[in-house]
Amino acid sequence: MSVLVTGASRGIGRALYDGYLARGETVTGTCRGDPPAGGRWLRLDVAEPAQFAGFARSFGDAPLDLLICNAGVYLDKGQDLDGGYPPEMWAQSFAINVTGVFLTIQALLPALRAADEAKVAIISSQMASDSNAPGRSYIYRASKAAALNLGRNLAADLAPQGISVGVYHPGWVRTDMGATRPPRTAAQSARRRVQPFDALGPATTGCFETWDGRAHPY
Ligand code: NDP
Repeated sequence: MSVLVTGASRGIGRALYDGYLARGETVTGTCRGDPPAGGRWLRLDVAEPAQFAGFARSFGDAPLDLLICNAGVYLDKGQDLDGGYPPEMWAQSFAINVTGVFLTIQALLPALRAADEAKVAIISSQMASDSNAPGRSYIYRASKAAALNLGRNLAADLAPQGISVGVYHPGWVRTDMGATRPPRTAAQSARRRVQPFDALGPATTGCFETWDGRAHPY
C-alpha cells in the first residue's frame, strides 16, 4: 500500500509515518525543512500554492492508496477576544488548515484515481464540531470546521470515482501543538489511529470519527 502523510516532520504526522513504515507500507512524508534521515520525503509548504505542481510531479505517476492530510496549525491559543485574533492569523490558519488540505488533495487526484479504492483521511479535530462549542480559539475551531465540511463534500464528489474521504479527530495528543498535559503521546495515538483509516471505504465515506473509531457528532 502507498501512503502519503503531510506534515510528517514531527508530532502525529511523524508517528503516522513511522507507524505505516513499521507495517511495511511504502510511505512518503512531506516536510517544510530539511528531510529527516532515511525514508522517502518530499518538500511541501501547504500554504504556498506555487509548490503544488512541482510536488505532484515529484510524487510521480505511482498509485496513491492513502493520503493523510495531517499538516495543521493552532495559532490562536490564548488570544484575547478584545483586540486579539488579528486578520493575518485568520488568513494564515485558513491557508494551512483548509486551503492547504484542498490543494494537497487536488494535486494528488491523478495518483489517487490510479489506485483501486483510494482513501483520503483529513485530520481535523473535535474542535470542528458544532456540538462542542465552549468558546475561545475561534480561528482554529472555524478552520477545522471548514476542513470537516470540505471532507464531507469531497466525499460526495469522489465516491463515484471510488475514492473515500474520512475526517478524523486524532485525540488530545502530546505534541508541540497538544502541549504537555494530554494523556497520549503521538506514537500511542498513531498506533490506534491507523485502524479507522483501515476501515474507511465506500460504506463509510464522509464519516467524522474519533481516534478510536467512534462516530463523532458533527
Ligand atoms: P504539531 O504542531 O506537533 O505538528 C504539525 C505538523 O504540521 C508539523 O509537521 C509541521 O511542519 C506541519 N505544518 C505546519 N504548517 C505547515 C505548512 N504550512 N505546510 C506543511 N506542513 C506544515 O501538531 P500535531 O502533530 O499535534 O497535529 C497534527 C494534526 O492533528 C493537526 O492538523 C492538528 O490540528 C490535529 N490535531 C492535533 C491534536 C493534538 O492534541 N495534538 C488534537 C486535535 C487535532 P513543520 O515541522 O515544518 O512546522
